[in-house]
Amino acid sequence: ATLSLMVEMEENPKFDADKAASLVKELRKNFNSGRTRSYEWRVSQLKSIEKMVEEKEREITEALHKDLSKPAFEAYISEISQVKSSCKSALKELSGWMIPEKVKTSLTTYPSSAEIVSEPLGVVLVISTWNFPFSLSLDPVIGAISAGNAVVLKPSEISPATSLLLSKLVEEYLDKSAIRVVEGAVDETTSLLEQKWDKILYTGSARVGRIVMAAAAKHLTPVTLELGGKCPAVVDSNIDLQVAVRRIIAGKWALNSGQVCIGVDYIITTKDLAPKLINSLKYELEQFFGKDPLQSKDMSRIVSSSQFARLVKMLDEDKVSDKVVFGGQRDESQLRIAPAILLDVPEDSQIMQEEIFGPLMPILTVENLEDSFEVINSKPKPLAAYLFTNDEQLKKDFVQKISSGGMLINDTILHVAVDGLPFGGVGESGMGAYHGKFSFDAFSHKKAVLYRSFTGDASVRYPPYTPGKQRLL
Ligand code: NAD
Repeated sequence: ATLSLMVEMEENPKFDADKAASLVKELRKNFNSGRTRSYEWRVSQLKSIEKMVEEKEREITEALHKDLSKPAFEAYISEISQVKSSCKSALKELSGWMIPEKVKTSLTTYPSSAEIVSEPLGVVLVISTWNFPFSLSLDPVIGAISAGNAVVLKPSEISPATSLLLSKLVEEYLDKSAIRVVEGAVDETTSLLEQKWDKILYTGSARVGRIVMAAAAKHLTPVTLELGGKCPAVVDSNIDLQVAVRRIIAGKWALNSGQVCIGVDYIITTKDLAPKLINSLKYELEQFFGKDPLQSKDMSRIVSSSQFARLVKMLDEDKVSDKVVFGGQRDESQLRIAPAILLDVPEDSQIMQEEIFGPLMPILTVENLEDSFEVINSKPKPLAAYLFTNDEQLKKDFVQKISSGGMLINDTILHVAVDGLPFGGVGESGMGAYHGKFSFDAFSHKKAVLYRSFTGDASVRYPPYTPGKQRLL
């Protein structure tokens, strides 16, 4: 039997629907045994992830460099430390999260007590993406484990070094009977999506998000979709411009060359401020990345030649190319594009219609900043929206009138670092959320439990409904 299995594996090494089905069957059996439900199991796996990250930091940094030329410092602050802190907070909070939440009961059920019990959903699937291929893979897995599920992770094939490393490390450090990695691209993901899962958390584009949701619907599987969108930054004139500009650069170019789902996609400012803002951006960009940013070791490259070609096409579109006011040089052999600033590109250009996901920054100008609301609200709801101002009324209006997954006033990106805030989209930018306790909740069922005793059995609810009982209504 072993020999025939080996022959079969050699003839058919591909991960297909049959292999996906037997993987889910195996994990479901192990989940049903109750193994993953105990507090001890959850803690042991979270501790193993901590140990893995601690011991393999060099390998992780190298893989991220191979996939994206990610600078080691950036890899640490945006990926490695993120996973460490998610583990740390889950380990600290887990026992509290697992305690059933008592709720008040009503006169109708008197005497009784009630509680909400968080139970694991079962066997769950995490499909991840390539821009933060380490943290965006493990962060949801940490949530799935905390909640006591068996989990399969499918990392992105577009970051192959990190995908391979994750599959090796998960096998080496974690409980194979309940936590697995399946590597692969569209075919393998399709085979996985054909199976019945108890939850799918998908990170990536809205296009594939629709495929995931349609596949999940066949099995009534709930989904969390972590998608993207065009995240605006509105810049007022009454601010510390230098600080704002540095923070915008940190939320665009200095983080993965703009390949960030919550990166600043475009800026809206007033016609009056635009020249000053552009000068400040140019100056600070040079301070950060030198006179020739294509040579900078502090900026990631574009992940693939197809993404490179997509960005170059946006930049070279006829109605856009003469709007470039700074940068945009490219080096195809290194897949690098220098930070580019564009002023007042037409609304119907590719760059204003699509999520940019790269180092190109269009600046739109308006007469009054209030006009920016209409521009933002005319587009699908973004994953994040940023505002730089000292005007309290404008802050209030922005929070009230703009719908986005998350929002940050006077900075970029950092709202994801607050564990108490849910991270997720709305509308086209996704559904559901995770991070901190929200990750635990994303992979738990909230079971409503009411406890009654045999005393105080009110006869009023039982037939016959006599006139005396009816008078009580
Ligand atoms: P993608 O959707 O192309 O790929 C993501 C995953 O989907 C990969 O694992 C891939 O193998 C799989 N996949 C691709 N095509 C598939 C298909 N036809 N059927 C089944 N599975 C398929 O997304 P991407 O290009 O890797 O990522 C870019 C997008 O992700 C951007 O829109 C960005 O904003 C978004 N994003 C969101 C977050 C977030 O946390 N919300 C984080 C990072 C990226």
